[in-house]
Amino acid sequence: MTAGVDPVLPPGCPRCLVEPVADGQAWRCDEHGEITPLWRPAEVGYAGFVEQLRASGEHPTLLPWPMGPAWTVTDHARVGGGSGPRRGRTLATLTCCSGPSALDGPVDVLVVTEEAGVGLGARVAGVGEHEPGPQLEERPPAARVRLGHQSVPLWSLSTSDAASDLDRSVLVGEAGGRWLWLVLRPASAILLLREDWVLRDAAELGPVLVEVAFGGPRPPW
Ligand SMILES: [Zn+2]
Repeated sequence: MTAGVDPVLPPGCPRCLVEPVADGQAWRCDEHGEITPLWRPAEVGYAGFVEQLRASGEHPTLLPWPMGPAWTVTDHARVGGGSGPRRGRTLATLTCCSGPSALDGPVDVLVVTEEAGVGLGARVAGVGEHEPGPQLEERPPAARVRLGHQSVPLWSLSTSDAASDLDRSVLVGEAGGRWLWLVLRPASAILLLREDWVLRDAAELGPVLVEVAFGGPRPPW
């Protein structure tokens, strides 16, 4: 472990809970074959979050912005990234912000942005091995979020035939050539999106990032 860098959990598979094993320069999941590893901090805090931003290069790490006064970043992760052995380019990032809302009480908002074929968004959403595609646009979008100068349409995915009984709403769209997933718990928190929601790349927040609070119960995924 390098001094000054927060500890991370052992590498994971982006798609499942099976612990991957090192295979030469690669990582292999029993279920999914060769994978790009998922990195999560052992504890969520400012230093590990900044390390994720540094390691992710051009790949954004998105936060709902501005965050409400009692809201905290309760989780984050990335797939790939960094400069150590067996790392390479970042393919996906995840954040979870949690806090109170007037309508729903405690709410978790998970944001995943990923390249096609990674599978982290579908795992977090609990929708099996679903890969979004052009069929999304056969229906009108359920919501829009603002990302930079872009208004990004998001489509809701049905969770009724998924095995998981998690109470959540799942929205997915495309921004900057990557899939953008929003998972809101409980499901009724989707009503929060009626307001004009903004997502920001945390890497572009600058000094205000030090005002962001970290910690609190991590959501299961
Ligand atoms: Zn796997």
